[in-house]
Amino acid sequence: MNIHEYQAKGVFAQFGVWVPRGNVAHTAEEAVEIARRLGGSVYVVKAQIHAGGRGKAGGVKVCKSLDEVFEAATKILGSTLVTHQTGPKGQLVRRVLVEEGLAIAKELYLSLVLDRENKRIVLMGSTEGGMEIEEVAKKTPEKIIKESIDPIVGLQPFQIRNVVAGLALSGATAKLAATFLKGLYQMFIEKDASLVEINPLVITADGQLVALDAKMNFDDNALYRQQDIVAMHDPDEEDPLEVEASKADLSYIKLDGDIGNLVNGAGLAMATMDIIQHFGGRPANFLDVGGSADRAKVKAAFEIILKDKPKAILVNIFGGIMYCDVIADGVVAAAREVDLNVPLVVRLQGTNVEEGRRILKESGLTIISAQTMEEAARKVVAASRAGV
Ligand code: ADP
Ligand code: MG
Repeated sequence: MNIHEYQAKGVFAQFGVWVPRGNVAHTAEEAVEIARRLGGSVYVVKAQIHAGGRGKAGGVKVCKSLDEVFEAATKILGSTLVTHQTGPKGQLVRRVLVEEGLAIAKELYLSLVLDRENKRIVLMGSTEGGMEIEEVAKKTPEKIIKESIDPIVGLQPFQIRNVVAGLALSGATAKLAATFLKGLYQMFIEKDASLVEINPLVITADGQLVALDAKMNFDDNALYRQQDIVAMHDPDEEDPLEVEASKADLSYIKLDGDIGNLVNGAGLAMATMDIIQHFGGRPANFLDVGGSADRAKVKAAFEIILKDKPKAILVNIFGGIMYCDVIADGVVAAAREVDLNVPLVVRLQGTNVEEGRRILKESGLTIISAQTMEEAARKVVAASRAGV
């Protein structure tokens, strides 16, 4: 799960990680009121969307007066921001963060990320702040310092020293950095984060160390014990079908092809997508109904797939824990309720397969049946093309 920058900065503050003073606004009037309360003479108005690259896209405006704050907030709120992370459709801005404008002496990069390969959290720092870290990694990988953290002992003083030295910090700033890093690591662990990225981390003209940007992702499997994080969930930032699927407890990911898939088990779903690609088709989604779906869940899955308007649908079920007749029931129920106007290929194998096939056959629906994965994939790819 992702949260907004202003929410991440709120979490940072709880752990003593320094952030600019500021608050979130939903209207231009609110933005001005926040700026007025902040005082000072420079304010920054920042679009709040779950994507980076806002600065370059016009989503971050430095303002020198309350009038400019009003103008910037009016312009940004309600606009659709297209950044390199939003995709070409962009993302509608519904909130802005209004914060104090800081005098930046130096921009650095800092992140903590779960490295699945070595099964550890990695602390990364770079003097090349404010740039895309992927570019730095490609062109000047030596400018990224990495410290892999042993989960038993946690972040060690020597690792902090390495990162501080790599960031070319010394004296009072080095001391601040040590406190900052400890707070950040503690936050990562306590909040079950999977990523924390600060780009840029800045040294201000008066020697403070401040997280100017803040990105946080969380481990979805730990959300049950992070209720305050769950409360920050913003469904507007997600694909509506993915939200609907998550409510129905389905693992669904929208893809850009035209063949809808309903499969049980993530492994089988992957294999199904592979074989569709192998025969020249393009999956419209990944959808795993899980090992123990009931009729209602199958129906919900079917409805979600249809909303994607695929050219053909493949139902590929191996009935192990799951019964083929239950799947067949769900498919028939869903197909009857919605106006099924695309070819449907069904491959059922496993428990109660005969009963499942009988239900499909007697339903009166036009179903293309297949016995093997290969046959199913060939048939659905052909069917998706026939309608073009
Ligand atoms: P994004 O990464 O989405 O472009 P950032 O939060 O990194 O957004 O902001 C982009 C740039 O705007 C920063 O690199 C920094 O130069 C400037 N900026 C952002 N917030 C402030 C602030 N509070 N004070 C001064 N400059 C800021
Ligand atoms: Mg940034």
